[in-house]
Amino acid sequence: MKRRQFVAKASLAGTAGAILAGCGGGSSEGGAAAVQTRPRINWRLTSSFPRSLDTIYGAAEVMAKRVSELTDGRFSIRVFPAGELVPYNQVLETVQKGTVQMGHSASYYFTGLNPALAFDCTVPFGLNCRQYNAWMYYGDGLELTRKMFADFNIVNFPGGNTGVQMGGWFRHQVETLADFRGLKMRIPGFGGQVMAELGVNVQVLAGGEIYPALERGVIDAAEWSGPYDDEKLGFYQIAKNYYYPGWWEPGPGLSFYINKDSWAELPADYQAAIASASAEANIDMIAAYDAKNPVALAKLTGTEGVNLRPFSAEVMAKSQEIAFDLLSAEAAKDPAYRAIYDSYNKWRIASNAWLNTAENTYATFAFNRGT
Ligand code: CA
Repeated sequence: MKRRQFVAKASLAGTAGAILAGCGGGSSEGGAAAVQTRPRINWRLTSSFPRSLDTIYGAAEVMAKRVSELTDGRFSIRVFPAGELVPYNQVLETVQKGTVQMGHSASYYFTGLNPALAFDCTVPFGLNCRQYNAWMYYGDGLELTRKMFADFNIVNFPGGNTGVQMGGWFRHQVETLADFRGLKMRIPGFGGQVMAELGVNVQVLAGGEIYPALERGVIDAAEWSGPYDDEKLGFYQIAKNYYYPGWWEPGPGLSFYINKDSWAELPADYQAAIASASAEANIDMIAAYDAKNPVALAKLTGTEGVNLRPFSAEVMAKSQEIAFDLLSAEAAKDPAYRAIYDSYNKWRIASNAWLNTAENTYATFAFNRGT
């Protein structure tokens, strides 16, 4: 046709994309009038996080607000906290079925469905936030994770990061490997597997159950996230030793999940709005944590009398050895896992060598000055 004339008209009218791509609600209408008519679309997003964790939960709201602005209010995504539509650990399956069009979650919750989903989030001694973003956007990360998510009828976008987490709250000091034997600690996932190898009695408790368990002495230690989120849960009132770093979560990436059929029905410019808004939420979350964590940490170590303690070199080295053994054993079992593991690992080693040069030398000097 006419496609060229149509393109010209469309860009003159200041709208483009969707109708040209031949999809979307306006496509049945002809001529210039259709260019003005953008479809009204209402989606729901189910988050794996409660409203009270405003930074991590808030990333979905940042994304949804920007999508609405970019589409002149025509594409609305309503965000629901964990538990309101489905529990936190059913987000993937719910989006897969299309009951809800979109989700926001941490993919390591779903390693029971595919162990390699951990790489979409984090693994012990893995990539930090910057390394993860580089792997996702400029390495094979997005392509490889999209391949995994295709099996679940999902398109994924990076959607936030906490940065390196803290190692958690301990009633008593843990300096040597022997101190970990028999310790009752709340730590889920892969980190828990490594801790179990260290002799820890691993407990998996939901957020709300941790404080009473610590208080009653059912557990000796618990990890959650970082100072800003941890402070809200009040662990510092019971366990005063705050260890770091959380080597099991060196830069957990959160993800937006979109049902593939719902995605295919979107006009191309609405798809672009989601892509842009997700990237914005991705950077917004780490910026928010980097702004809020220093304030919370200063309060915890100041008025609340918390003792900051680094894990010893002995504990770090042994934990890394165990983690790497577990990862390579998993890779030996499954070629699909191996493909993503190899890409991730290669990226980690090359990136570490670079970040250890200027970045780490600068950080080691400047962060320690105290002024
Ligand atoms: Ca954690």
